[in-house]
Amino acid sequence: MEWLIETLRVLREVRDWTDRRGENGERSAATRRAVHRATQVVEAAVEAPIVVERMGPAREPRSPRPPRDRQRRNNRPRGESRIPLDKIDHHAETVVRRLERAGFKAYLVGGCVRDLLLGLEPKDFDIATDARPEDVKKIFRRNSRIIGRRFRLVHVHFGRDAIIEVATFRANITDDDASAEGQDLLIRRDNVFGSEEEDALRRDFTINGLFFHVPSGQIIDHVDGLADIERRYLRMIGDPQIRLREDPVRILRAIRFKAKTDLVIDDELLEAMILCKEEIRRCAPARILEESLRLLRIGYSQETVRLLAQTGVLEILFPVVQSYIEDSTPVRIEPDEEQEDGEVVERDRLDHVLAYLDALDELIRRGDEVQDCVALAALVAAPLLEAIEDPTLDNVDRNHLLSDWLVEMGSQITLTKRLHEQLRQMFLTLRRFNRRSSGRRKRGRGRVTKEAVQLLEISLRANGRPLDELEDWEQQISEERPRERQRRGRRR
Ligand code: ATP
Ligand code: MG
Repeated sequence: MEWLIETLRVLREVRDWTDRRGENGERSAATRRAVHRATQVVEAAVEAPIVVERMGPAREPRSPRPPRDRQRRNNRPRGESRIPLDKIDHHAETVVRRLERAGFKAYLVGGCVRDLLLGLEPKDFDIATDARPEDVKKIFRRNSRIIGRRFRLVHVHFGRDAIIEVATFRANITDDDASAEGQDLLIRRDNVFGSEEEDALRRDFTINGLFFHVPSGQIIDHVDGLADIERRYLRMIGDPQIRLREDPVRILRAIRFKAKTDLVIDDELLEAMILCKEEIRRCAPARILEESLRLLRIGYSQETVRLLAQTGVLEILFPVVQSYIEDSTPVRIEPDEEQEDGEVVERDRLDHVLAYLDALDELIRRGDEVQDCVALAALVAAPLLEAIEDPTLDNVDRNHLLSDWLVEMGSQITLTKRLHEQLRQMFLTLRRFNRRSSGRRKRGRGRVTKEAVQLLEISLRANGRPLDELEDWEQQISEERPRERQRRGRRR
């Protein structure tokens, strides 16, 4: 059986190679057909004995099945593993084992291996395999879906909520002769299947390039990532300048990993990040928005934005925030009206922006569900509030100004319509919270939503205000909700 599986692996490699090579010519087409046919025959042979094995013991008296957990543990490698096996998602393990049983290679890859080795809780478990999406689909059938147009992946579903993403090994396809200084290296297509090693090498950082083979407990390291994990070092796979020019979003990823795991950034990488930062302007705005939101949502946004400012990337992503912190006039924080003998505090502008982000991190770390609009609002709150608090503006002008400000806020980031509207509503509500008239709040524009109350909490914390009024507003949301539902019901 072993040799048959090995033959199949070799044949698949030959098949991939001929697929990549022979696009033209009758002769190469015939070779490709022959290789595909041979692969199919051996695939069938590999699957056949499994059926026989299953049918065979059925006639013998069966001992009762051990519970599922014990079964899985018995199949696991004995002895110490550097990865705590009990932390591995059992759905991911099932997918790996079923792929292996069908004769494919399958590994846990990327962020989950990194996080397990660093003692962190992985966000999700991704799998890389030499099986093509159609092969994966054949194995998991109705429980799987092929997704993605540019690069096809398979989502294997377990029940309603659990999804394991399975990707076929890919190769990096930059032209060899395009690596010279000044050449356009931006990757516009990355949909070429590759070998296991090519897949490790096309990844971004060495700590993200490790593969974990669950059945044997082995870590496969094609990129010297283990040593970097041990010394907590963030290093690019390959030449940092070339890899960042291929995909400048990697600059933002480096900042995220640095902030999240407190690694030391390799000098060469840091230098390249600063040198290549302008290339970010060439990336698709939707990708930049998504990566920027990931930067804010990790619970370390304060550290992230500090790094964005240090590397000069903040100026590219959020020029409004950059110009706000460049102004040397300190921010004046008025004392709370109800606080006797309170004093005006003056604060550096960068510290003021960071105070909002610190409050955002606090919410995320205590486990609150934080929507994208709240994360973005925390980042831009200080400059935006300064712009719209101009006392010479009337309400109509202020609303126009708020909308225009949100449109122009990021030169590289285009807000979705939904985000734009959510932000607009939240800042209007924040004004409603803050306006006081003879000790009572006036009714005004802006719906009191959970997100708006979260922004109020962030704003109160950032300005060192007491949090006691939050409860009233939370109460108001719970009262407004049933009323709103009724109204909507009547409209229908
Ligand atoms: P997180 O824990 O935040 O999800 P992650 O490392 O898993 O971090 P993903 O975006 O989920 O990040 O990507 C999964 C893996 O895919 C990465 O670990 C890395 O190996 C690879 N990868 C993702 N984006 C890139 C990229 N832009 N360039 C190269 N490799 C990438
Ligand atoms: Mg991930």
